Amino acid sequence: MSRAPVTDEDREFMRSSIDEMKKATSPGPRVGAAVARDGVLIAAACRGGGKHAERAAIELAELSGLSLRGATLYTTLEPCIDVGSAKESCADLIARVGISTVFIGSYDPNPLIYRAGWARLRDAGIALRDYPADMREEVESLNSTFAEHFTSGMGPNGGAKFDYMLNESKFEIQFAPGDARSIVTRWSTRGGTSIHAYADRPQQVALARYAREFHEIDDPRVFDFSYTAPIHVGEIAVFVSEDGAALVKVVEVEGGRDHGAERTSLKIKYEIRVWK
Ligand SMILES: [Zn+2]
Repeated sequence: MSRAPVTDEDREFMRSSIDEMKKATSPGPRVGAAVARDGVLIAAACRGGGKHAERAAIELAELSGLSLRGATLYTTLEPCIDVGSAKESCADLIARVGISTVFIGSYDPNPLIYRAGWARLRDAGIALRDYPADMREEVESLNSTFAEHFTSGMGPNGGAKFDYMLNESKFEIQFAPGDARSIVTRWSTRGGTSIHAYADRPQQVALARYAREFHEIDDPRVFDFSYTAPIHVGEIAVFVSEDGAALVKVVEVEGGRDHGAERTSLKIKYEIRVWK
């Protein structure tokens, strides 16, 4: 069954959350949230002063004296699930006050918690919707610096977007939550829609020539390895160590000002293969 279309009212409340997002000045991600019920905006707030946007909006809404049972929350970033032992996460707060629908404008770029807020809300029986594509793009562009500080990921599968000029051009992928071994991937500008992948010796790297998907790669050790390889968008780089391989698909490249882009960023998907 297809979902009900997003209404003009929904868009209006999403707009309120994005307007709030623009007001956020604290370091870290800019986040805005709005709470509405029966077609009426009850409250809207941004992240700041140590408070997450969802909590700020909900607390403001509670001041109105209205019950939030059956209300809808519009948040530009998926709610958190863990804010330290003593505090209630936004996801748990949303469930506790009885909000029944949550619209999400973006998912956490940290591969360790990507989609975790969504999953927590789903498990609490809350209906979940995404912002439409045009508004998701707006949210992402307003927060373009957010993802630049993530310099590591966790296997066996994941995705990330990061500024490859930071952290010594390094993005490290840990094999699995219980397996601290890792592979270090390095990157440098090549221009256009490609990037240089290079390896941290004694690790090596190769282009998985003609492969488009991870499942097309049987044994990752068959490729022609060296210490650097040019990788185009859509292609897969294979990094190998004595312990395993990181298959890294280049999804998007921004090459910086010399190459017609505002910034330097790399969006990847990855899969870890461990030798037995
Ligand atoms: Zn939160």
